[in-house]
Amino acid sequence: MNEHPFWIWVLAFFGIILGRYFVVAGGSYWLLYARPQPTGRDGTPPLAPISERAIRDDIQLSVIAAAVFALATAGVLSLQALGLTRLYARPDLHGWWYLGLSYAVVLILQDGYFYATHRLFHHPALFRWLHEGHHRSRQPTPWTSFAFDPIEAVVQALFLVGVVFVIPLHAITLVAVLCTMTVWAVVNHLGLDRLPLGFPHHWLGRWFIGPAHHSLHHRRHGIHFGLYFTFWDQVCGTEDPAYARSFELRLNNGPA
Ligand SMILES: [Zn+2]
Ligand SMILES: [Zn+2]
Repeated sequence: MNEHPFWIWVLAFFGIILGRYFVVAGGSYWLLYARPQPTGRDGTPPLAPISERAIRDDIQLSVIAAAVFALATAGVLSLQALGLTRLYARPDLHGWWYLGLSYAVVLILQDGYFYATHRLFHHPALFRWLHEGHHRSRQPTPWTSFAFDPIEAVVQALFLVGVVFVIPLHAITLVAVLCTMTVWAVVNHLGLDRLPLGFPHHWLGRWFIGPAHHSLHHRRHGIHFGLYFTFWDQVCGTEDPAYARSFELRLNNGPA
């Protein structure tokens, strides 16, 4: 294989992945945090200002993570050029319905992989080396959504590299998964105190993770390890029982 295109791909994907981060994370930060909010709601104390240093740290880790994901994507394309992956070119090859099915299967597998590795990263022997960076900002912001420590970024990118060898996937499906991952991670890191009261925190229901669920993980590290779905947290007993109760209360009292 000619090495030249590999590094062009790395550079191109680095630009795309980083650009996507600044657009989605930066855009939502600008929307929710740009206006000063001198007082909290319902008589609560004023909101603590977001630390600029924490944002800088988050962006720094995200730039490194973007480089890792760019290397992984270019690696997949190189292996594809050698005919080694199960990526396929014609979208109707396995039927159009298969695009949707494979998309759902990848999200379900990725959620399980994320739960297991994320829980492992919280082991005291590993936390400092693999995951402390993500928890550096006590108040997560959209900038935290892609702030992986370098080894954690490698582990998460490995899932996407591995899955193209196991499941036949079209590029459309892969792009849809990456977009879902980006938007979902940003939504999970929206500060609850910044969201309008009318924000539908639970519009996708009890089984889907959103900012209310993930913000608890940033306050108490022993709970809420999932990415998209609450399934593994429920099955493995790492979901806060008070979260389930508050969810039912909200359902009974109308939308949150
Ligand atoms: Zn964590
Ligand atoms: Zn987080």
